[in-house]
Amino acid sequence: MRTPYIAGNWKMHKTASEAEALARDLVRSLDREAKKVMIAPAFTALGAVKRCLEGSHILLGAQNMGPEEQGAHTGEVSVLMLKDLGVEVVILGHSERRHKYGEGDELINQKVKLAVSHGLDVVLCVGETLEQRDSGTTTGIVEEQLRRGLNGLGALAQVTIAYEPVWAIGTGKTATAKDADDTHRFIRELLARLYNQKEAEEMIIQYGGSVKPNNAAELMAMENIDGLLVGGASLTADSFVPIVRYDAGS
Ligand code: PEP
Repeated sequence: MRTPYIAGNWKMHKTASEAEALARDLVRSLDREAKKVMIAPAFTALGAVKRCLEGSHILLGAQNMGPEEQGAHTGEVSVLMLKDLGVEVVILGHSERRHKYGEGDELINQKVKLAVSHGLDVVLCVGETLEQRDSGTTTGIVEEQLRRGLNGLGALAQVTIAYEPVWAIGTGKTATAKDADDTHRFIRELLARLYNQKEAEEMIIQYGGSVKPNNAAELMAMENIDGLLVGGASLTADSFVPIVRYDAGS
């Protein structure tokens, strides 16, 4: 049985005080939800949001992390710094990191292994561009990102995969539930080959890309979609709360 896992990626939005106000609203509204919920504010708001989450089951996530424990890496934030602030999960390989900041699979793999070795859970994002989709290479791209991103990682227990077609992120375009489910099934089968059947069956595979209150239930009804990674619609309680409660008639 896979526990549904809904995550909000706040990207480069919200000052610390704005983030704190939203976190307080979410704790009030969502604390009795049986689902797993994570929110990932900007680095500058992690401390303030952590204080709001004390005693709550909502997990604190970061949106990225440097590839080394410490050292001369101007502008980076290390795994030790995240742990020190009480971060429990880190999103790695987001398409905005891959395509706007040139992060490749090797770097992402280094971060995945570092995070896991320090006890952080990871949400590893994969997904194809529109060009790749149109040329029929979606599964090949996703397979390469997973093989390389997970290279050398012995077990999947601390990993969640987020399938996020790049063309669906922040565009208002969503993959159909059936198309998304097909890719999720492909990912699960690949993980069974790379690891084993049991780990693959237990793996939470989130879908991300223009998830809104009006499409969350349809996506989550699919056999291989176990969670959602939400960008724009995670920025207000009015839209994120009904997404988390997708099965309560929203
Ligand atoms: C994301 O940033 O991971 C994302 C899916 O964004 P949006 O929901 O805005 O498409």
